[in-house]
Amino acid sequence: MSQTLQKNTKPTNKGTKQLFSNPILEKLSRTHIMVPISILTIAAIGVIYWGISNGAIGVLLAVILFFVGMITFSLIEYLVHRYVFHMVPSTPAREKIQYSVHGVHHEFPKDKDRLAMPPLMSSAITVILFFLFRLIMGNAVFGFLPGFLIGYCAYLGVHYIVHAYQPPKNIFKVLWIHHGIHHYKDHERAFGVSSPLWDYIFGTMPKQTSR
Ligand SMILES: [Zn+2]
Ligand SMILES: [Zn+2]
Repeated sequence: MSQTLQKNTKPTNKGTKQLFSNPILEKLSRTHIMVPISILTIAAIGVIYWGISNGAIGVLLAVILFFVGMITFSLIEYLVHRYVFHMVPSTPAREKIQYSVHGVHHEFPKDKDRLAMPPLMSSAITVILFFLFRLIMGNAVFGFLPGFLIGYCAYLGVHYIVHAYQPPKNIFKVLWIHHGIHHYKDHERAFGVSSPLWDYIFGTMPKQTSR
């Protein structure tokens, strides 16, 4: 599936790469991880608060939908990573897009400014998702979308600390090892970052021997 990534991208633990010759685009391709996490957390709190305080949704239902939103995000995270970021690009243009979106991260896994989508893009996507989910599920959006956004923040946070820090001596070490295997041993496995749940379900857990 990910032959291109396998062949062309040897991980380099130092350095970075310029993606765009245009300096504004290049700057926009970088962000400190706390920028999107802060924006999206504020958006999530705002949406759930507005929904509850205006009577669009009850507290209990909001909490349940919040968790449904989080789980849904983790599934999307898995599917996008496995089937979009790691698909074999059929044209050079697609290969360039794939490289900019994910290949560059496999080549420079410790380039900390490139661990999140540019905040402008994630903000725009959040607004689009609000209207899309509203259309699909009505007022349930006030619980579901905040959970979905916090799921994305959890993914960003886990991904950042996995690449920025040494593994801790607690339960979270599992996530370090899991994502490390994806980067350094087997690009075809361990696609889940915020949890290995969907790797279990879809049979892409790392082989025992590779641990
Ligand atoms: Zn990957
Ligand atoms: Zn990574």
